[in-house]
Amino acid sequence: MLASSHVWCSAAVALRPRATSSQQLQTLSQWGRALSAKRRQAIFTERCTGHNIAPCCLCGEPIHRHEDRWIIEHKRALALLGPDLNANCAPAHFKCGEVKTHTQDLPRIRKAKRQQARHEGTKKPARGFEAPAGVVFDWKLRRYVQRPTASQP
Ligand SMILES: [Zn+2]
Repeated sequence: MLASSHVWCSAAVALRPRATSSQQLQTLSQWGRALSAKRRQAIFTERCTGHNIAPCCLCGEPIHRHEDRWIIEHKRALALLGPDLNANCAPAHFKCGEVKTHTQDLPRIRKAKRQQARHEGTKKPARGFEAPAGVVFDWKLRRYVQRPTASQP
């Protein structure tokens, strides 16, 4: 029993598409790793234009270090292979960051994953079946019928 489950397990691993290039693994390990508090403050300090004030990289309004809720935004998301460097980071209001993540980064990340899957041939084409020439689908009859010729009324 134990041996058979082990075989099934290894088969499942073998069937998994080749989607673990070293670059992707590196991204996965970076993904979700919290920025250290020290580095977070250091990036804020690099961007400071006044005493404990830095502009939001998304809306341009000033952020106060201790009074506003803010995050470090990656200008190019890590999942899109943006470098995890301070130059790629800038403070942003928490709310501005939420908006960017959900309206720009996540759709773009999903698209990049689709492109990767298509490139590797692990994605099924969206439209696999094509009706033969001269045949159309009749929605009333719910089946394919010969396309009516132009001479018929
Ligand atoms: Zn903002």
